[in-house]
Amino acid sequence: MTTNEKTTKSAMPKKNDLILVGGAGGFIGGALVRYFHDKGFTRIRAVDKKPLPHWYQCTPGVEGLCMDLSDEANCRVAVRDAVEVYNLAADMGGMGFIERFRIECLRSILINTHLIEAAYRAGVQRYFFSSSACAYNVKLQDDPNCRALKESDAYPAFSERGYGWEKLLSEMFCQEYWAERGLRTAIARFHNVYGPWGTWDGGREKAPAAICRKVIEAKNSGQKKIVIWGDGKQTRSFMYIDDCTKGIDMIMHSDQLIATPINLGTSELVSINDLVSIVENIGGIKLKRKYDLDAPRGVAGRNSDNTFIKQMLDWEPDTPLRKGLKVTYNWIAQQYEARKAGLNTVRDIF
Ligand code: NAD
Repeated sequence: MTTNEKTTKSAMPKKNDLILVGGAGGFIGGALVRYFHDKGFTRIRAVDKKPLPHWYQCTPGVEGLCMDLSDEANCRVAVRDAVEVYNLAADMGGMGFIERFRIECLRSILINTHLIEAAYRAGVQRYFFSSSACAYNVKLQDDPNCRALKESDAYPAFSERGYGWEKLLSEMFCQEYWAERGLRTAIARFHNVYGPWGTWDGGREKAPAAICRKVIEAKNSGQKKIVIWGDGKQTRSFMYIDDCTKGIDMIMHSDQLIATPINLGTSELVSINDLVSIVENIGGIKLKRKYDLDAPRGVAGRNSDNTFIKQMLDWEPDTPLRKGLKVTYNWIAQQYEARKAGLNTVRDIF
């Protein structure tokens, strides 16, 4: 575990305490399992509804279970003997997915509802929920030069339809389980996370992975063109996966942050056009841009105000975008080549 003065030493689990990670077959859950494993935790239970061969990462020595956590009985099995529970399971994807499949996004409410109840009943000590910047009021995000979102901007509530409302309501569950029942909960509002071992094609991928793949495809095909969703002027901040896992650990183990939603993202705001330029530079190519104005594009602008996290943890995600994108680009290029060669690659099949 990461410790600094702002995390609470007594909150740290022992190396042989059982840690449950839900959604461990996915991008962030898979990275979190590896993070804890590398920190020396010896009892990690990784759960996902995807069959194990389709998990993005399978860490050796970790118990891997294929189970649907929207089912109450499965949640009871999953949390057995667990000291800490991390809920990273959700039916989600990039804008193309969350704008189109709102019902699937809303149904993720079942996962948190059953998992937190099971965790409470099993006497789990700490429970983590992965919320999202999509929980914020969308009316504050209608300008690419928007001001960064601070934690209080979630209310008055006007979240992203479907996905954002599910996150906001699940946050409330976490707050009430602490207030009424004394379960220590942690709530991080992630701003776009990217990195290797994530979704890079198939419809659920997010902008950084999609742009890396498109640049790689263009290089491969020799057609020097790229299609960008929207006008490219939308702005976002992007957090590298290693900052995300470290932040989850710190937030979970800070007694000052119990049941308190907090931003976990970078405050390095870039437009989608900027993002394409960085990836082109990494790929060593310049492409002709075509803008698809009918494609899903999400809110006009979104950034993370990191005042609160810096105050609480003396830290904020700080991996420079170009550095993280280079690692991500190289990983996707490898995956792309592997697929071309007919080898098995990780990808979301659902
Ligand atoms: P992901 O899609 O890669 O991983 C989610 C995993 O949850 C998938 O492997 C999926 O199979 C699993 N899952 C879905 N329904 C399940 C169920 N009923 N039972 C068990 N497993 C189930 O997504 P991710 O990027 O790793 O996101 C993890 C969490 O972080 C999610 O809650 C997501 O909403 C949140 N989040 C992610 C981002 C981001 O940029 N990646 C941003 C904001 C919030």
